[in-house]
Amino acid sequence: MPRYAYVNGRYVPHEDACVHIEDRGYQFADGVYEVIGCVHGHFADERGHLERLERSLSELQIDMPVERSVLQFIMRHLLRLNKIDSAAVYIQVTRGVAPRDFKFPKGVKPALVLTCRSFDFDNNPALAKGAKVVSVPDQRWARRDIKTVALLPQALAKQKAAEQGAYEAWMIGADGVVTEGSSSNAWIYDGTRFYTHPSGTNILKGVTRTAIMEIAAQEGVEVVESGFTLEQAYKAQEAFSSSATALLLPVVQLDDHVIGNGEPGVLTQKIYERYRAYIQESSVNGGQVAWTA
Ligand code: PMP
Repeated sequence: MPRYAYVNGRYVPHEDACVHIEDRGYQFADGVYEVIGCVHGHFADERGHLERLERSLSELQIDMPVERSVLQFIMRHLLRLNKIDSAAVYIQVTRGVAPRDFKFPKGVKPALVLTCRSFDFDNNPALAKGAKVVSVPDQRWARRDIKTVALLPQALAKQKAAEQGAYEAWMIGADGVVTEGSSSNAWIYDGTRFYTHPSGTNILKGVTRTAIMEIAAQEGVEVVESGFTLEQAYKAQEAFSSSATALLLPVVQLDDHVIGNGEPGVLTQKIYERYRAYIQESSVNGGQVAWTA
C-alpha cells in the first residue's frame, strides 16, 4: 500500500487522504486526470502526459492548479516519500469545491490530488502470454479526447471483460468500428501495416500511441490511422493495446477468435522492446532515478 498521497498542497498519509463532499469531481465528474508510468525511475513520456493534462483542462476551462514544474516536483517528491521507483502516478484535477450547482462556480480554486502505486512493468503475466480481449458497445459521450474522470462506461466495459476472464474490453462505435480499449488504444497488424483509430473527438489520443507511431515509422512499419472493424480484427496477424501502464500489451484472443498463432506477435514484441528503450532515452531525468534527480 502506498504510504502517502498529495491532496491540495499537502502530503498526507494515504489512509487519511480525502476531499470535500462538494468537490465537483465527486458530484459532476467535473475534472480530468492523467496516469504516468515511472519505469525504474524513468517517467515515460512525461511531457506528453503533462501537455495532454493541460489540454484537457483548457477544453473544460479549468486552470492548472500549479505550474507544470511544480507538478513535476510533486510527482517526484511523492515517489520519494513512498520509496518507489516503478509506479503508476495518478494526477487528478477537478474544478474544485463549491455548493452544488451545475454552472461553473466563480472564484473557486481547482483541486489537485496525486497518488502513486507501485507497478511491476517487468512481470506483467499478460505481457508474456498475451491477453484476451472482449468487444463491447462504446457507450461514451462525444468528447472522448478529453481525459475526464467520468469513467462509468469504461468501468462497465472492464467489468464485462473481467466477467469473461478477459483483461481488456475493446469498444465498438455505432459504425461498427473499434474505437479503442476501455483504458487503452487498440491496434491491429494485418501482415503489412498497423491500423489504429484516427485521433479526433472519438478516442483519447494516447500518449503511448503517439510514441508507438513514431517508433513504428523508424522501424519501417507503416501505420494507418484508420478505424478497423471487428471482422478485420478477428483476421489480424497481430493485435495489441497501448497505454501508460500496459505499454504495449499483446492481444492473443478477441472474443472467441484466436489472433495469429495465439502467441504475442513478433512485431508487437519488437516495438515493445523499442518502446522500453525509448522510455529510458527520452526520460527528462537524463538517466537518473526520478526521485534522486
Ligand atoms: N484510451 C483510453 C480510453 C484510455 O483510458 C487510455 C489510458 N489512459 C488510453 C487510450 C491510452 O492512453 P495513454 O497511452 O496516454 O495512457
